[in-house]
Amino acid sequence: MLNIVLFGPPGAGKGTQSQRVIDTFGLVHLSTGDMLRAEMASGSELGEQVKGIIAAGQLVSDEIVIALIAKRLDADAKGFIFDGFPRTVAQAEALDNLLAEKNTAISCMVALEVPEEELVTRLVKRGIDSGRSDDNEETIRKRITEYNSKTLPVAEYYAKQDKLNKIEGVGSIEDIAGRVAGVLNQYA
Ligand code: ADP
Repeated sequence: MLNIVLFGPPGAGKGTQSQRVIDTFGLVHLSTGDMLRAEMASGSELGEQVKGIIAAGQLVSDEIVIALIAKRLDADAKGFIFDGFPRTVAQAEALDNLLAEKNTAISCMVALEVPEEELVTRLVKRGIDSGRSDDNEETIRKRITEYNSKTLPVAEYYAKQDKLNKIEGVGSIEDIAGRVAGVLNQYA
C-alpha cells in the first residue's frame, strides 16, 4: 500500500493537493477536518460537541479524531492519504498502531512549507467564500499557534523514521502538485 501523510499548517493547501494525489495515485482521502465538518452539518451529537472547539481554533481531542479515522481504515484501498491527521504525536502513534494491525504502515510524509503571513492571507480570503466558522483572522492566528506548539512535533516524529519530505508550498497549484508527485513517485 501507499499510505501518505500530507502535512502542513492551516492554509498550506493540503486539501487542494490531496485532490490531485487521489486522482493520480488512486488513494482514499481521509481528512479529519472534512469528517468533523460533516458531523457538524448533520447536527450529530459529536458535531455539537466539537463545534465550539473548532470555532475557537483549538484541536479536537485525540480520542475523537482517532475514532473517526479508525472507522475508515476498513476500506479496500490501494492506500490512504491522510490530510489534517495526525495533528499530535499521540495521534501519530495511534495511527502507526492502527496501520500495523492491518499489516501496513505510513510510506512517507509530505510537508508543505508556507510562510505564516501567506497562510493568513490565503485563509482570510477563503473565509469570504467558505463561510467556515474558523476562517477569520483571530481564529486563524489561534490555529497557527496550535499548529506550532502541538502539530509541528509530528514532523519530527516522522523524521526519526526517515519518512519526512519537505516541499516548498508557495507557487502555482500545478508547480506544487509536480513537487508532491516527484516525492510520491519515489515511494509508489
Ligand atoms: P485547516 O488545516 O485549514 O486548519 P482542517 O479542516 O484540517 O483545516 O481542520 C479544521 C479544524 O478541525 C481544526 O482547526 C481542528 O479544530 C479540527 N481538527 C481537524 N483535524 C483534527 C485533528 N486531527 N486533531 C484535532 N483537531 C482536528
